[in-house]
Amino acid sequence: SPIPDYLKQVLEHVRPQDGGTPADYIETLAKADTSRLAVALAMVDGQIYSAGDDTVEFSIQSISKAFVYAMAIEDAGLEAVLAKIGVEPSGDAFNKLSLERGSNRPMNPMINAGAITAHLSNLSVDEEVYEAELRDADRNMGIGYMLKAAGIITCVPREAVTGYIRQCSINVNVKDLAMMLATLCNAGIHPVTGESIIPQTSVRQVFSVMTTCGMYDAAGAWVSRIGIPAKSGVAGAIIGALPGQVGIATFSPRLDERGNSVRGVKICERLSSDMGLHMMDVS
Ligand code: GLU
Repeated sequence: SPIPDYLKQVLEHVRPQDGGTPADYIETLAKADTSRLAVALAMVDGQIYSAGDDTVEFSIQSISKAFVYAMAIEDAGLEAVLAKIGVEPSGDAFNKLSLERGSNRPMNPMINAGAITAHLSNLSVDEEVYEAELRDADRNMGIGYMLKAAGIITCVPREAVTGYIRQCSINVNVKDLAMMLATLCNAGIHPVTGESIIPQTSVRQVFSVMTTCGMYDAAGAWVSRIGIPAKSGVAGAIIGALPGQVGIATFSPRLDERGNSVRGVKICERLSSDMGLHMMDVS
C-alpha cells in the first residue's frame, strides 16, 4: 500500500513547523519531548496505517471528553444527559467557570464544566501526570463547586474533579486513538472484534458536539478549513473522523495560542485536502 509512505511524507512536510509551545500548566506536559511527531489512520474495515512515533504514549487529556460523553449517554440516556449538559459552543476558554444562561447547565460536554459533570472514575492512569495536575487544580475545583451549587452534580465536588483529572491522565498512542475513532466511524462497532460498543444514535450526538465544540476556541476556523468532527487535548494530540470511513489521530506536543497542536493541525489540513475529507465538499 502507498499509504505508509504518504503518511511519512506528510510528517516530513509538517516537521519544519516549530512554532508553539507545549502546555506549561501541568509540569509533566511542560517537559514533553517536542520532537515527537506521529499520525495514524484507522479505516472502518480495521486496517490501520501509521507513521512517526506511533508507539509513544501521551495522556489523552480533553480527548477523553468525547468518549466519556458517549458513555454518559449510554449510562443515563440522552434525555437525562441533555438535562445536565447543553450542546451549544461556548466561545469561551475550555476551563472557564461558566454555565448556560437560563438553563444553568454547562454549555457543552467538551468544556471542563461539561466534562466534570460527565466524569468517569476508577480508571488506570499515568500517576505522574495525574499528581502534577492535581497539584494545580484550583480552577477545576472551582468549576466543581460551581456545578454543585447549581445543582448539576450532587456528589462531593472534589470527587467529580479528581475523576475528571484521572480520566484526562490515561495513556494512549496515536494507533489506540485512531482505532477508537474508527469504532465511532463504523456506527459504534469495533472494526476488528465486531463488538457493538456504542449505538449509532450516540455516535451522531458525539460527532455533532465535536464538530461545533471540539477544538477549543478555534472550532469555527477548524470546521471551515478542515471540515471534520475533531477533538484536541493539551498533551498535543488531535483526533478527527470522517464518519463511515476513517478515524485519524495525530500527536505533537507544541500548541498554538488556542491550545491546538501546531503540527497536528497542519497534518489534518493536509490529509483533509489530499483525501477530500471536508464534510461540506460534494464528492
Ligand atoms: N486536564 C486538562 C484540564 O482540565 C485537560 C485540558 C485539555 O486537554 O483541554 O485542564
